[in-house]
Amino acid sequence: MSHFHIKCGKCGKELENTYCAFCEHCANSLLTTEYLVPFRDDCGKGIWKFNWLPVHSPTVEQPCTVVYQSQWLARHLGLEHLYIAFNGFWPERGAFLQSCTFKEFEAAVVLQNARENGIRGLVVASAGNTARAFAHLSIVADFPVIIVVPRMCLMEMWYLEDSSAVPTLAVGDGDYSDAIDVARRISVIANFPFEGGVKNVAKRDGLGTTMLEAVSRIGRLPDHYFQAVGSGTGGIGVWEMSERLLREGRFGGTLPKLHLAQNLPFAAMLRAWERHSRELAQEDLRPELIGQISTRVLSTRYPAYSVQGGVFDALSAAGGKMYGVTNREVFESIELFSNLEGVDIVAASAVAVGALVQAVKAKTVRKDDVILLNITGGGEIVLGREKKTYNVEPTFVSKKVADTEIEEILCEILKKNF
Ligand SMILES: *Cc1c(COP(=O)(O)O)cnc(C)c1O
Repeated sequence: MSHFHIKCGKCGKELENTYCAFCEHCANSLLTTEYLVPFRDDCGKGIWKFNWLPVHSPTVEQPCTVVYQSQWLARHLGLEHLYIAFNGFWPERGAFLQSCTFKEFEAAVVLQNARENGIRGLVVASAGNTARAFAHLSIVADFPVIIVVPRMCLMEMWYLEDSSAVPTLAVGDGDYSDAIDVARRISVIANFPFEGGVKNVAKRDGLGTTMLEAVSRIGRLPDHYFQAVGSGTGGIGVWEMSERLLREGRFGGTLPKLHLAQNLPFAAMLRAWERHSRELAQEDLRPELIGQISTRVLSTRYPAYSVQGGVFDALSAAGGKMYGVTNREVFESIELFSNLEGVDIVAASAVAVGALVQAVKAKTVRKDDVILLNITGGGEIVLGREKKTYNVEPTFVSKKVADTEIEEILCEILKKNF
């Protein structure tokens, strides 16, 4: 018997196993995994040591988050129990994510779950880090993935493998959201499912492993959790794991407060939350705002905010707060973190650090609270010293690309790669 089933958060309908769907009754409500066994953290290596993942027999190795207690940033901020969840490459600390972000967990769990559901290949849209994580896992797991990225992200993109090994399309005249649209169309034509974004339970549970590692390491749920959000998937995944751990009872009786941060001026979730509204305002999602932020990976115009079980519900359940962090604060936080903790972090992680600095100043957190700071990506410089990385050489398409042209490109790709 399976150790989990999948359940609609709204109507309670249970499904045995399904790849990435909405409930048939409740359009716009996220399905969640319900684990039927007590939590364990000794079932294997890397993230597979956790039994609360929607997979049965993992086939590839996947390193885990490293949670450690901060000394120097903690002292600088006057905090007594600051824990850092480091997601990146930092061998000195035992951190071995070669694609350098927490997107690797979602890729690993999604691919394994897809394979176990009889899926033959996936289409992934990404603003950078997801592409790299899926490209890496596609090679490691020998599982076909077609990747679609916006051209504006190519500058900051790199792969761990020669990119001819990973079919990648770049949308020349569009942003991340256009890349998602093109990816959806490719998925229909290629008959590979779209990786599914927030709807994919494997993705959310994979990202939730950060909280599993935290309770394993700290022995309890933290009082506060800080993270930079783009699509909101990571924050939701961590909230869902926290709810499960809370129900289990061994790790304390209170949900961690969620402190989720966006890079100003592109901050539609922050604005909506300030209005106590479940609806995002279109004017807060204007494309020209995206051009003004320093964190492309936080630039989706389709965040999972309003959906049942999404960011609005997570913040409501956990007593959360949203933060807006300026580019200047981002750059200062990159410096602050690397000077104090001794490793480079990506700009998106610095958005979370900036939020923590604001929370300390505003006395939103107390000095003896247990705080978990998710450094969602880092160690690119450390990795660059040890490993060769590759530029991404994509096939360019327009966001208005015709279906026939997509078919031709796919034909080429399928011939060459799979
Ligand atoms: C994707 C990403 C985020 C945001 O995560 P979401 O799940 O999209 O909210 C934060 N930091 C880094 C480094 C990322 O790659």
